[in-house]
Amino acid sequence: MILVDTHTHLYLEQFDEDRTEVVEAAIAQDVKWMLLPNIDGDSLDDMKKLHLEFPNNCLPMMGLHPTSVKENYEEELRLVEKELQTGKYIAVGEIGMDLYWDKEYAEQQKDAFRRQLKMAKKYNLPVSIHIRDSFDIAYHIVKEESTDKLQGIFHCFTGGKNEAKQIMDIGFKMGIGGIVTFKNAGLAEVVETIPEKYLVLETDAPFLTPAPFRGKRNQSVYLKYIAEKLAEIKSKPVEEIAEITTKNALEVFTIE
Ligand SMILES: [Zn+2]
Repeated sequence: MILVDTHTHLYLEQFDEDRTEVVEAAIAQDVKWMLLPNIDGDSLDDMKKLHLEFPNNCLPMMGLHPTSVKENYEEELRLVEKELQTGKYIAVGEIGMDLYWDKEYAEQQKDAFRRQLKMAKKYNLPVSIHIRDSFDIAYHIVKEESTDKLQGIFHCFTGGKNEAKQIMDIGFKMGIGGIVTFKNAGLAEVVETIPEKYLVLETDAPFLTPAPFRGKRNQSVYLKYIAEKLAEIKSKPVEEIAEITTKNALEVFTIE
């Protein structure tokens, strides 16, 4: 079985004490690739360091996270572009809109999102999209920028059937994480209706830990609990879910 954690922040300080062991444990449990979405200029060095330690397993993305869009965002975007020019990244991410934490920079978030989508097209890379409390605005921007070539993941999908349909309409996929294992989240019922070819797996570690470890620090080795839950929802063997979701991930991300 080969699994891909399409969204994991293993370079963050929550893993400072045991990062190497955490990655090795994931690899030992079939998580062959861990895709690392960047947050901002401050997270970049730690992310690069992890990639250097595991160059074949921990693959970095470059982008400015919406919650890091502040007054210095022009400078941050210049850094994103400069890094993308090196050709060392598998995707532009994570990018998007987040009006849950702060609405102060809503306009700048929109601008940063659109410009990073344009960068993805320019450098021929897929995108990892973060959306919170702003689906309609963010979706509208993606739709305007979408082309046959632009591909990506709506990471941490927690929407309803209507949102899933809109995402499928533009040929994007959805990242399914720990929330699918939460009772009462209602996500399992929605995921049941989404064709498997639109689904990929993610942990979003260290956040959103799946059951039965809810409340503890999340890590990529727990990806199997998400795969198992998806197998249960789809009434299929977990090996088949692994095969399909890995194939889907490799359709979006070019991993050599
Ligand atoms: Zn993330």
